[in-house]
Amino acid sequence: MTAQIIDGKALSKQLRVGFRERVDHLADQGVQPGLAVILVGDNPASRVYVGNKIKACEECGVRSFHIALPADTPQAEVLATIARLNADPAVHGILIQLPLPPHIEPRAVLEAISVHKDVDGFHLYNVGGLVVGNTIFPPCTPYGVQLLLDTTGTDVAGKNVVVVGASNIVGKPMALMLLQREATVTICHAKTRDLAQHTILADILIVAAGKPGLIVPQMVKQGAIVIDVGINRLTDGPNAGKIVGDVDFDGVKEKASWITPVPGGVGPMTVTMLIENTLRSAERTLRMRQADDFQEWEAPILKNG
Ligand code: NAP
Repeated sequence: MTAQIIDGKALSKQLRVGFRERVDHLADQGVQPGLAVILVGDNPASRVYVGNKIKACEECGVRSFHIALPADTPQAEVLATIARLNADPAVHGILIQLPLPPHIEPRAVLEAISVHKDVDGFHLYNVGGLVVGNTIFPPCTPYGVQLLLDTTGTDVAGKNVVVVGASNIVGKPMALMLLQREATVTICHAKTRDLAQHTILADILIVAAGKPGLIVPQMVKQGAIVIDVGINRLTDGPNAGKIVGDVDFDGVKEKASWITPVPGGVGPMTVTMLIENTLRSAERTLRMRQADDFQEWEAPILKNG
């Protein structure tokens, strides 16, 4: 069997066409969605990620606010910047590019973002929402994976899903989202003993470990759906400089029923879901403005942000 390719680039493009219509609809009501991206320091990879997000905003008609702060910016100043953006009605989404310089406590910064504008979905309120199956903004990468899975036409209910990687931004929220859809979910991490013993049982295998070549064909069940979240730049060998995932794509595609390539799989979806969340936030703000009974239907905790 040779797997069918799950094309994240094509799905992303299709979704962005739909975004234009939503942006036009918001414009008719006097709203232009706005996304603020804060970069502290000059990490080259972060600069590229931020650049991609700004570019996606331009493509979709979303106004972007790029706030570049020097690496030695005191935490208090970063918090003050966030407070200003929280209060700015032109800003519907705020994200702070991770990682942050060591003197800044990521949790303090993430919790400072208004839950109404937390389009990365990293605020504890949104993380907690995932646990009870009712988050406002699902985190972008797992959200994108979920849509990629949907394109295969697979109902995940009752399926064995194995998530390799347990980070707060990918593995854990991914597992919670699929648990919510009634999959039987196993989470593996660096201390998991005999990884293959788990992965071989997966109807759906999602890999987000950041380890090139971690998943080889012997670890994959015949006919499994394999989603490779990993993004790794090879540093040596004949393919030095090449971007690869965590899965041995050439080997595993002969066993899987569906597989995502790297690049062109999950990567494009992450930025697209960020725009989706920003539009959702703008639409939500508009609804709040229009609803007389907003005070009653909005949960009290949301009024703090
Ligand atoms: P992370 O914070 O470094 O977490 C990696 C996770 O993988 C940890 O839970 C770690 O276990 C686990 N792990 C590491 N080695 C393992 C092994 N040999 N076997 C099993 N589990 C192992 O990374 P992340 O931020 O989640 O990102 C993971 C990968 O996805 C990276 O390549 C990153 O570049 C990529 N990524 C891609 C996108 C995208 O848009 N496509 C978005 C985000 C991240 P412990 O918890 O035990 O340490």
